[in-house]
Amino acid sequence: TPKYVRTFNVMQSEKGAVTSQKGTIMNIKNFINNQFVDAVDGSTIENYNPSQGEVYSTCPASKIEDVNNAVDAAKKAFSLWSQTSAQERADFLRAIGHELSIRANEFAEAESLDQGKTIKLARSVDIPRAIKNFEFFSSSVLSKSEDCSSIDGKAINYTLRKPLGVAGLISPWNLPLYLLTWKIAPAIAFGNTAVCKPSELTPLTAFMLAEVVKKVGLPEGVINMVFGYGADAGRALVKHPDVPLISFTGGTATAETIIKDSAPYFKKLGLELGGKNPNIIFEDCNFEKAVETSLLSSFNNQGEICLCGSRMFVHEKIYDRFMSEFIKRTESLVVGDPKDENSFMGALVSAGHRDKVMGFIEEARKEGSKILTGGEKVVVKGCEKGYFIRPTVIETTSMDCKIMQEEVFGPVVTVTKFSSEEEVLQYANSTRYGLSASLWTQDVSRAHRMADKIDSGTVWVNSWMIRDLRVPFGGMKASGIGREGGEHSIDFYTEAKNVCVTFG
Ligand code: NAD
Repeated sequence: TPKYVRTFNVMQSEKGAVTSQKGTIMNIKNFINNQFVDAVDGSTIENYNPSQGEVYSTCPASKIEDVNNAVDAAKKAFSLWSQTSAQERADFLRAIGHELSIRANEFAEAESLDQGKTIKLARSVDIPRAIKNFEFFSSSVLSKSEDCSSIDGKAINYTLRKPLGVAGLISPWNLPLYLLTWKIAPAIAFGNTAVCKPSELTPLTAFMLAEVVKKVGLPEGVINMVFGYGADAGRALVKHPDVPLISFTGGTATAETIIKDSAPYFKKLGLELGGKNPNIIFEDCNFEKAVETSLLSSFNNQGEICLCGSRMFVHEKIYDRFMSEFIKRTESLVVGDPKDENSFMGALVSAGHRDKVMGFIEEARKEGSKILTGGEKVVVKGCEKGYFIRPTVIETTSMDCKIMQEEVFGPVVTVTKFSSEEEVLQYANSTRYGLSASLWTQDVSRAHRMADKIDSGTVWVNSWMIRDLRVPFGGMKASGIGREGGEHSIDFYTEAKNVCVTFG
C-alpha cells in the first residue's frame, strides 16, 4: 500500500488524528515522468479540511522550474504517445476508469474531505462522472472517423486530425476530479500529453489519480501533475512556449489574464468560466417538479457549481405560493457534517470563500434587497471550526445591483417576480454571463421561443443539469470561449489538417 493511502486510512478511522498530530499530515507531491517529487525549492502549501477548518495535508507550491520539468517530460513523451494506436490509448483510458471505479468510495471520501462537499454527493456525482469521462473518450477515440469529399471527380479532400502536443490543463476547486478528468481524458485519448495544474485548494484526488496512472502503467510523462498557486504554477504553464493548448475552467477574471499571457504564443484556448444563470418559473409549470429541482439548482454542492440557477424568476401568478413552499423546504435542508448521510449541504471550500459569500449577502442587505431566509453562518456539531453557511434566499427587484450581476458561487439564490415573457427575457439576458438557463413551463411553443432567445450555452427545459457528454458544452459572453463534449472535444484537442489530392 502506498504511504499516502495508509495515512488516509488513519484519517478515516481516527477523526482528527491527522490534523492534530503534525507527524501524520499527508504530503501530496507533484507527479512528473511517473515520479512523485517535491517542488524544486521545497516550498509547500497547507491544505485545509473545510468541514474541520484544519490542515490535513500539504502540497507543493510549484514554480517555473517545476512546470518546466513537467513540460519537458510531457514533450518527450509526446513523440511516442502520439504514435500509439487508438486502441492502445483507449485501453489505457478504460484501465484508468476501471481502477477509479474499484477505488470509488475512497475517492469520494477524499473529495469530500478536501472540498467540503457531502460524501453522498461525491459518491453519486463527482466520482461516477470522473469514471465516465474516461469511458466516454475511450470509446469516442475508437469511433471517430475523418471527413472526405471529392471535387467533380478531379480531386479528393480528406481531413487528418493531429494531436497538438503538450496540453496545459488548469482546473478549479468545485468539482475537482470531475472537471480535471473532463480535460485529461480527451487530451490523451487523441494523442496529446498533459501537464495538469489542479486548484491549490483541492489537490487530493488529482494526487490519487496520479497513483492510478502509475498503477495502470501509462508511459512516463503522458500525464503530469503540478500543484501550486495559479499566479506561479498556472501562469508558468500558460506562458510556456512548448504548451500549444490551454484548457481552463475557472473564474472569468482569471481567464482575462490567461488570454493576455497566452496571446504572444497564439495558443489554442478553451475557456469554461463563470455563470449567473437564470431559473425561470412560469405560472403553468409542473409546480412540484419546479420547486424540488430549484432547490437542487440553487444549493447543490453548496451552490458551488457554475451551472447553478443563481437567479430565480417566478411568475407573479404563482409567486406567493411558490416562494412559501420553496422557503419552507430551503429551511428544512440539513447543513451538516459532510460525512453524515443526512447532510444535504457540507462546508464551503475555504474560510476565504465563506467570507466572500457572506460579504455578498451583507452588501445585498445594504443595497436594499430582502433576505427571505438564511444569510448567516452555521455552527455544526462536531465540525465547529468548519465553513458552513445556511442556504440563503434574497428577494430583489433591481437588475443592476451587485447580487444580480456578480457570481457568488455559494448557497445564495436571488428571486424576482415577473409578469410577462418579454420582461423575464430581458431580465435573463441582463448580465455579462451566458452559461446556462432553466425554464419551467408546460407550453411547448413558449419553451422553444424562450430557448431560442436566451443568451446561454445550455438551456434546460423542465430540468436542470442533465448532462450528455456528446452535446456541446460551454458558455456565451463572459462565460467562456469554445465548446467541449463529443465532436467538440475532438475539434479542440486536435488540429484539423486538410489534404487535397488530384486524380490527374
Ligand atoms: P480560479 O479562476 O480562481 O482558479 C481556477 C484555476 O486557475 C486554479 O487552478 C487556479 O490556481 C488557476 N489560476 C489562477 N490564476 C491563474 C493564472 N493567472 N494563470 C493560470 N492559472 C491560474 O477559479 P476557482 O475559484 O478555482 O473556481 C471558481 C470559478 O470557476 C467560478 O467562476 C466558476 O463559475 C468557474 N467554473 C466554471 C465551470 C464551467 O464549466 N464553465 C465549471 C466549474 C467552475
